[in-house]
Amino acid sequence: MKRIPLRSDLRALSGYHSPQVDVPVRLNTNEAPYAPPVAWLEEVAAVARDLDWNRYPDRVAAELRKGIAALHGVSADQVLVANGSNEVLQSVLLAYSGVGRNVTMFSPTYQMHAQIARVVGATVVEGVRNADFTLDPREIERVVTESQPAVSFICSPNNPTGTVEPRENIEVMLAVAPGVVVVDEAYAQFSPWSALELVNDDTPLVVTRTFSKTWSMAAARLGYLIGPRWLVADMEAVLLPYHLDAFKQRAGLLALKFVGEMESRVRDIVAGRDVITAAFDRLPVTWWPSGANFVLFRPESMSGRAVWQGLLDRGVLVRDCSSWAGLGDCLRVTVGTVEENETFVTALKEVLA
Ligand SMILES: *Cc1c(COP(=O)(O)O)cnc(C)c1O
Repeated sequence: MKRIPLRSDLRALSGYHSPQVDVPVRLNTNEAPYAPPVAWLEEVAAVARDLDWNRYPDRVAAELRKGIAALHGVSADQVLVANGSNEVLQSVLLAYSGVGRNVTMFSPTYQMHAQIARVVGATVVEGVRNADFTLDPREIERVVTESQPAVSFICSPNNPTGTVEPRENIEVMLAVAPGVVVVDEAYAQFSPWSALELVNDDTPLVVTRTFSKTWSMAAARLGYLIGPRWLVADMEAVLLPYHLDAFKQRAGLLALKFVGEMESRVRDIVAGRDVITAAFDRLPVTWWPSGANFVLFRPESMSGRAVWQGLLDRGVLVRDCSSWAGLGDCLRVTVGTVEENETFVTALKEVLA
């Protein structure tokens, strides 16, 4: 049997995989804890029956892009849709980075930015956040000026720290970056402001969003970017033909009819986040303010790994970030339903007792 070795630069990369353990309370991947609205499910079921399954989908996903554009008050030719925002990020990196080009981000941050950059052959240059996980604008200036990146990332609110980036920092990056600036807003609905207000045809800025978190559609894999028209048009060079299936185009468009429900769920999750952080205040843990649907925390009296295992033993799965650079002993908990949050808090109290 002839086995072909994987590209050697990829062999060194360890993948980004959160363990999928079958436990009653899963608070490790920042999804919405609720199923989508029943009325949406019914409409989607009807779509499944009526679709022209033998035909290729609309290659440019015109209706879905129009719907997303209307949601944000932009025009459809500023919107690019793909299979999850990870595919959007990958497409940007394929189009603008690659071998011999630098890509920057500020750690600790969403690991896929560096991971996908390496997969497409680009060189990753990482800046660092302050001890409290905020980002010093002088660090942005230093790293971007020195490395002249083809693509620069800022994640706001930042996964896994929850930090909301001030507008000033995006402006500093735009002022010094020679290439495309990507603001990853997977958690934008929880944030007090959005970089969408900075998007226009004269600025090489894209803002990425996803249906995976607030829209209760992680199973469907749908994400998008809003950016300059020229960039959206040029990105066609790297998209596969008919990359977004017809069913998902319709399901995403239908979801937009339920924006009110989505927003009320966001309010519930913010209330749940307050319950969790109030409990943290009474326990021996350090935690960081979050503008997202998760909270990063560090037990003071036990190792992060031991607490992670103790929670798992009680049927609660959180994200173990304790081995990530700059996150020693840290864990990240996704806000769940009222009951899930209670179960988590009770389990944490027991583990730390
Ligand atoms: C979850 C997440 C994504 C991935 O979103 P998909 O649309 O599910 O691919 C992108 N960026 C950040 C920061 C995330 O946390």
